[in-house]
Amino acid sequence: MNILITGGAGFLGSHLCDALIEKGHDILCVDNFFTGNKSNISHLLTNPNFTLIRHDVTFPLYVEVDQIYNLACPASPIHYQFDPVQTTKTSVHGAINMLGLAKRLKARILQASTSEVYGDPEIHPQTEEYWGRVNPIGIRSCYDEGKRCAETLFFDYWRQHKLEIKVMRIFNTYGPRMHPNDGRVVSNFIVQALNNKPITIYGDGSQTRSFCYVDDLITGMIKLMESHKSITGPINMGNPSEFTMIELAELVIKLTSSRSKLKFKPLPEDDPKQRQPNISLAKSKLNWSPKVSLEEGLNKTIIYFKNLLDK
Ligand code: NAD
Ligand code: UDP
Ligand code: UDP
Repeated sequence: MNILITGGAGFLGSHLCDALIEKGHDILCVDNFFTGNKSNISHLLTNPNFTLIRHDVTFPLYVEVDQIYNLACPASPIHYQFDPVQTTKTSVHGAINMLGLAKRLKARILQASTSEVYGDPEIHPQTEEYWGRVNPIGIRSCYDEGKRCAETLFFDYWRQHKLEIKVMRIFNTYGPRMHPNDGRVVSNFIVQALNNKPITIYGDGSQTRSFCYVDDLITGMIKLMESHKSITGPINMGNPSEFTMIELAELVIKLTSSRSKLKFKPLPEDDPKQRQPNISLAKSKLNWSPKVSLEEGLNKTIIYFKNLLDK
């Protein structure tokens, strides 16, 4: 199949390119390199089944493909808050353009949505039925509301134009090729620990996240795309093992044999207090569940960052 991946030079997108090339597909990778990096896909540039286009999805795109994975959007708070108007445009105009493309081609389309659509949740763990608690005017809103509006568009194109859609709500995912300076907690802690610098804990560190290793997530994403057309989602994907940021910091210090100490900093505005996916739907509908433990995934990620810092 000919498959379009928007945001294909990013962290998740580049792993998806690898996995789909491995399965024998032809990949068209579209990226404007806002947060993505050519080095994430440089090993694919000479592959005859791989094509790269530098393009911003907020502008129309006329290509011929059989399937579309829409991942284009900065994902880390530092990056999506850098130019918030562009973030909303990427989510909303990007979704409209990719849905328009899918409609013309009658192509199946998957949206990389996010656990952020639940905001700072009142129910725990989060199930797909929960409508969320999102601040519409805060500093995270460009991302959260942009992604919520994209979900709306997907379901309206599905109802109105009978498009085959797949909406995946991705929970915190980590692994090799994360941007070393994008401020996400796993990359921050590992880079700080490897440099024996203070580990920055925001707030008192009691807030929780549930971390999924990238390979598990990509397996789930492809399973969802290839699932029966009656399965539209939204469907949660992530690893339900939940940790406080203090626990994460201590584990990273242990695994890197670091001399780093914890340093407490103010908690950013609207930072969700707890987050854990309920993945019953993914288990029952897709027979998917994550396999890689946090310790195992962190070890692989630490090796990646060690090599990067040694360069
Ligand atoms: P990333 O920042 O590494 O990748 C995003 C990619 O999109 C980058 O390559 C960037 O250059 C590209 N991009 C941004 N704006 C664009 C535009 N207007 N046109 C074309 N390309 C554009 O982030 P990631 O972690 O790989 O996230 C990929 C997707 O998954 C995002 O949509 C994100 O919202 C979603 N997601 C990720 C996580 C996670 O934990 N990693 C969690 C929830 C959702
Ligand atoms: N679009 C695109 N590529 C295509 C078809 C459409 O980028 O191959 C964009 C186009 O810019 C359009 C948007 O998708 O504005 C929505 O398309 P749709 O057909 O739903 O709406 P309309 O063209 O009526 O605005
Ligand atoms: N965090 C932290 N120290 C850091 C970076 C992040 O304590 O150096 C916290 C952050 O406040 C949040 C959690 O770690 O509570 C996850 O942050 P991240 O930006 O990775 O993801 P998100 O908040 O989008 O889930």
